[in-house]
Amino acid sequence: MIAKRNFPVIDGHVDTVYKMPKDKRIFSEQSEIGHYDLSRMKTGNVQAALFAIYPTSSLNYILKSLDIWFKLVMNRENGLMQIKNLNDFQKALSLEKKGAILHFEGAGGIDNNLRFLRIAYQLGLRTLGLSWANINKFATGAMFKDPQKETGLTNKGRELVAEAQSLGITIDVSHLNEPSFWDVYEVAQQPIFASHSNARSIVDHPRNLTDDQIKAIYEKKGTIGINFSMGFLNAEKPGEDNYEMGFDAIKTQIDHIAKIADINTVAIGSDFDGANTPNCLKDCSKYPDLWNYLFEEGYSVQDIEKISHKNLMRVFKDTWKHNSI
Ligand SMILES: [Zn+2]
Repeated sequence: MIAKRNFPVIDGHVDTVYKMPKDKRIFSEQSEIGHYDLSRMKTGNVQAALFAIYPTSSLNYILKSLDIWFKLVMNRENGLMQIKNLNDFQKALSLEKKGAILHFEGAGGIDNNLRFLRIAYQLGLRTLGLSWANINKFATGAMFKDPQKETGLTNKGRELVAEAQSLGITIDVSHLNEPSFWDVYEVAQQPIFASHSNARSIVDHPRNLTDDQIKAIYEKKGTIGINFSMGFLNAEKPGEDNYEMGFDAIKTQIDHIAKIADINTVAIGSDFDGANTPNCLKDCSKYPDLWNYLFEEGYSVQDIEKISHKNLMRVFKDTWKHNSI
């Protein structure tokens, strides 16, 4: 048997902070429930992940989740370390810790004056989505249903993008509706990324990206994190679960983005602990199986390394400014 190719992973989206308290699991104890814990991160060689704060529609929600976030990351038994700058990735490796990057999945709870954005930066916020499935004072989400109110970025939203990018926070376009996406594209001075979205021309789901959006992210030197949610991978029945789905559904997405854009645009944003995933990716310990599959299918070691962590790392290098904080 060929040894498993255990490439390091930087996972662009996990909802463990939201899910774990509901499951009543303990991060330091290996579990069969959910998708992420210290032991399974080790097996999957997940070096770091964007641990999302959700919900984000009010400051109160954000504060409540931040409390859980810091309790999780600061508990020594959990083997985690907060990543705030590029040097921290190396530091975490040498301390044999797993990296946790603070991410807000939506900006609704941030005030008009953006004071809380600047404070959140000091707390280590490094990546920011502008909306979730809702509408807020900055932007509108892809799943917001009322067409009468479908808008792009507001003026406040434009200010938010500019301020976040000047601080060194990476803008995540994953949940945006199309008008908001194209407004971000217009105003963004830095690379943008879609932390957890797939290609819509393969799976027709509003959370997936059109080919034009994929090209736009490529043009901005950003990345698209392949989402393992079955609903976003199911080409025959978009939105529906099929636990028997194989790695080929992931490969089809990677192939398409590499064709429309290039291989430097492909990353990983599992949505683990936030979505139902196929049995072949039942949790983060399964990453080596995915890399093995891609290698057997002809992907080079260099290309798999780009997908597993190097592309996303490049975006952080290009967008995180103040390396000392
Ligand atoms: Zn999401």
